[in-house]
Amino acid sequence: MSSQQYDVIIAGGGPAGTTAATLLAQYGHSVLLIERDQHPRFHIGESMLPMSESVMKRLGIDWAQGSLKKGGAEFIDEVSGRRTYFPFQGEYRTFQVERSVFDKRLFDNALAHGVVGYQQEQVGSVQCTPNEVQVKTDKDLYQGRYFIDATGRNALMGKAFDSIEKINNLGKFALYKHYKLANSLESEALFGHGNIKVLLSEIGWIWCIPLTNGRLSVGLVVQKNVPENLKQDALFERYIQVSPYMSELLQEAEVLSELGIEADFSYQNSQRYGQRFACCGDAAGFLDPVFSSGFFFAVKTAEFVADQLHQGLTQGTEADPELQQAGDEFYQKGFKTMHCLIERFYCSNLVENLFFESDRQLQIKQEIVALLAGDLWREGNSFQQGLLTGRSRKN
Ligand SMILES: Cc1cc2nc3c(=O)[nH]c(=O)nc-3n(C[C@H](O)[C@H](O)[C@H](O)COP(=O)(O)OP(=O)(O)OC[C@H]3O[C@@H](n4cnc5c(N)ncnc54)[C@H](O)[C@@H]3O)c2cc1C
Repeated sequence: MSSQQYDVIIAGGGPAGTTAATLLAQYGHSVLLIERDQHPRFHIGESMLPMSESVMKRLGIDWAQGSLKKGGAEFIDEVSGRRTYFPFQGEYRTFQVERSVFDKRLFDNALAHGVVGYQQEQVGSVQCTPNEVQVKTDKDLYQGRYFIDATGRNALMGKAFDSIEKINNLGKFALYKHYKLANSLESEALFGHGNIKVLLSEIGWIWCIPLTNGRLSVGLVVQKNVPENLKQDALFERYIQVSPYMSELLQEAEVLSELGIEADFSYQNSQRYGQRFACCGDAAGFLDPVFSSGFFFAVKTAEFVADQLHQGLTQGTEADPELQQAGDEFYQKGFKTMHCLIERFYCSNLVENLFFESDRQLQIKQEIVALLAGDLWREGNSFQQGLLTGRSRKN
């Protein structure tokens, strides 16, 4: 049994866990970070939002290095031929990253800041008592003053408390693959502007995310009922082939990965904090991939948790079950906004009325771009206020 004591023990070495770990180590606290896998490990979720940049700066990560600049987000309805483009410019700058490489960088960066990191070790159970936390892994037992659950969709604490609440009506499941594109004018254009393309499909939508070195991430998010006789591989191929853009782009492309599958990904954890623990990233909740908000919420929630916890550890109030309340309330405003936007994407005519509206006011377009950038806590966004109060605006 380990006799080591830490201020903070974190389960999960993805974006949320490594962000919380690095920030807490920067504050001078002792941190143990435990990761089940070994980096580099594959992870889906390559398209970033601009408002993660401030967190990357705090971590000392230059996210431009080794990444593809993302010009913006394009939404295309191939049936009607309507399309719209939301550019990220000026203060809004972001990238597409290969997560195996990027997550390893985040993990190594945490170690370089003095975090003690173990890989290939799985946290099994956590006990939070008034005086300490005890974390049991498949290899050891550790004691600390505070526990952070950053185990992603594995949601260790959410499962232990049975507090995971499914969100219905968003994407049902996603199928995805990586490709290496053959040279063509279209692939040159795609890697040149670096946009994420969202192609509206009969049964949901398709993402097309250019990465570095000619690598392309393609995913099909299914929202409607699908023909039952189609197995996952055939389903993916069929709907990719139905898209004129994708079928042309993928001509002579080399397949680089097996078909990946994620199902039931929309949920929220109703118990995100308590005595001596907090959850961040996907362990706190995940909405839907359509506006690429997962990584952003992962690092932002980790930032909120780390900043609140630093105060608690410094003042000796870390056992207060309400320690994370203020940060969590703040985070909820952003999460709710994104939830409303995604719900409107799937369940209303938001796309028809606003995204593809040619005479849409410039101000509304800018307000939508701000939300798509993750700029969710700025005052004065009337489109956001309308979303949150349930008013629908068409122009
Ligand atoms: C289909 C799909 C597409 C997506 N596309 C995008 C996108 O384009 N852009 C975007 O921003 N987001 C996207 N996301 C979401 C994004 O991938 C996640 O939101 C993000 O990775 C969350 O980071 P995290 O650190 O919370 O969790 P993760 O990145 O999942 O990291 C959690 C880590 O915890 C480890 N772990 C789990 N259990 C244990 C345990 N018991 N002990 C120790 N370690 C453990 C895991 O091995 C993992 O490394 C997508 C999600 C889906 C489902």
